[in-house]
Amino acid sequence: MDLMYRSTRNAENQATASQAILKGLAEDGGLFVPERIPKLEVSLAALGDMTYQETAYAVMKQFLTDYTEEELRYCIRSAYDAKFDTTEIAPLREADGAYYLELFHGATIAFKDMALSILPYLMTTAAKKNHEEKEIVILTATSGDTGKAALAGFADVPGTKIIVFYPKNGVSAVQEKQMVTQKGANTCVIGIRGNFDDAQTGVKKLFGDEALGETLAKAGYRFSSANSINIGRLVPQIVYYVYAYGKLMKAGKIKAGETINAVVPTGNFGNILAAYYAKCMGLPIGRLICASNENKVLYDFFRTGVYDRNREFILTSSPSMDILISSNLERLIYRIAGDDAKENARLMAELSSKGSYTVSDSMKKEMQDFTGGFATMTEVSAEIAKLYAKTGYVLDTHTAVASCVYRAYREESGDQTPTVIASTASPYKFARSVMEAIDSNCAGMDDFALIDELSRISGTRVPWAIEEIRSAEVLHDKVIDKAQMEAAVREFLGIR
Ligand SMILES: *Cc1c(COP(=O)(O)O)cnc(C)c1O
Repeated sequence: MDLMYRSTRNAENQATASQAILKGLAEDGGLFVPERIPKLEVSLAALGDMTYQETAYAVMKQFLTDYTEEELRYCIRSAYDAKFDTTEIAPLREADGAYYLELFHGATIAFKDMALSILPYLMTTAAKKNHEEKEIVILTATSGDTGKAALAGFADVPGTKIIVFYPKNGVSAVQEKQMVTQKGANTCVIGIRGNFDDAQTGVKKLFGDEALGETLAKAGYRFSSANSINIGRLVPQIVYYVYAYGKLMKAGKIKAGETINAVVPTGNFGNILAAYYAKCMGLPIGRLICASNENKVLYDFFRTGVYDRNREFILTSSPSMDILISSNLERLIYRIAGDDAKENARLMAELSSKGSYTVSDSMKKEMQDFTGGFATMTEVSAEIAKLYAKTGYVLDTHTAVASCVYRAYREESGDQTPTVIASTASPYKFARSVMEAIDSNCAGMDDFALIDELSRISGTRVPWAIEEIRSAEVLHDKVIDKAQMEAAVREFLGIR
């Protein structure tokens, strides 16, 4: 019997894993969730000796039950190969009493590669399985990292096109250069005059537009999503928490069964939700520590049970976390409401009409595994400088948010549980903020001079993802108002 997926807004709306991956978002605007979270079949004791690919297969086969073994192994093998600069895929680095799980060794040096290097394979396999003849159009809003990772994954993949919208003034210089230099005849990159929430809301609207959907179908296209609302993004992200647990055992840092904590720098709530799913599978995770920057809507939510997006949107030095509407939180809300689609739909309707909602006391009790924390830009700079001075290890700004929140948590609680910090980006991607934190003389230097300086002080090689864009030509220079998104999609696809 296949594990089925249900929309968080209508329990009747069901799909197999491959259908849910093809759709991205459910027709009713809900997110697909597994009808139950399977218990990890592989024993904890066995994890220590498993490769990343073996761990990926063991975890993913339990969620994507309508893929054959051959299909799934093909997807995994194709995704986690020499595109990653280490055979470990996700190495674990110990620094100053914490374990940094480096999720940035893929093609675009951010953690989005962990899922987006496999999603194109999962999706094209799903299209074949479901006899889908229409061309898949990936429509994506990005706070900076998803865009490039999705472009890299889908560029020139037959049977697909990809359109990426990013906030014109809301991404780092390196992030923007990475996207606008993207090659591939099936790619389209567009800047929006607005912030990430504007881009994400616009994309969700296009998904929900039935008339547009019909026009698209007539022209031989269908939309899908590479955002973390796609279950095909979430499932591959569960893998590295299971893998990290095995690595900690292998290194003798923990024994099988011992509890660990996880700290995750959070934006759209996808990465930490994957950690939560890992915990629900039976991986011994104690506290799930949700780290935010100044856009601390989640910190407030975990403290009070009130989710309120009515506040100023702040551009920070961790742009991939500059988000006020964390889409994946909906999956947690659904679960803590007791898999109640009606109640979830009611709360989400409140979010869209009033910009806020309040969960019940019983739901609040269900979310006690989570601790929220936040760090300001000043604290983040200080954390980067401090850890570098103490250990020589250089964090990017997002990981530094998590690192800072972790240190404050440990001091306050005295909790000495071995802790994994999700390290979500290479410092090279945010070289300006990182170098300015470490050396105040860097302020006047240009972006690539900063990158060379970072290489010198950290004793690490400049990653290929950066070398590649040094002299690359800008191929996408369109900037539009958010009201023009639909027109831009129609233009790229050649439909009226
Ligand atoms: C996307 C991203 C995040 C936030 O991850 P979510 O899954 O959206 O919570 C954090 N750090 C970096 C570097 C990212 O690219």
